Amino acid sequence: MGNADCIFCRITRGEAPASVVYEDEDIIAFMDIRPVNPGHTLVVPKRHYAYIWELPDEEVGKLFVTARRIAAATKEALDADGVRIVQLSGRAAGQEVFHVHVHVIPYYDAKAPQRRRATQEELERIAAEIRKRL
Ligand SMILES: [Zn+2]
Repeated sequence: MGNADCIFCRITRGEAPASVVYEDEDIIAFMDIRPVNPGHTLVVPKRHYAYIWELPDEEVGKLFVTARRIAAATKEALDADGVRIVQLSGRAAGQEVFHVHVHVIPYYDAKAPQRRRATQEELERIAAEIRKRL
């Protein structure tokens, strides 16, 4: 299943490391290694589609239901003031990995986001806090 060169397919198959927040037979969610804010999660359908408009309706439903659940858990785990749920399709829209994914990003009233590379330890610690609330 999936595309040999696609990093998200490799994560789905367990061939590349990730700090997994949630997984079922259709969906996997893991921490972004360059979070906009700590707790930035990517929610990914396990089947490979490049763009949101290629996704069957039932997969869109599962993807966004999972994103909403992770948003709620993230808000609680990290005491966020708000959460962005963002889907980018196409290079022109800012997509960087061409396997459909939804960003779930916590935001704070008093703190501007600053994207940076996180340590593995930090990603694992935050993933564990979110998992506890799912
Ligand atoms: Zn893929």
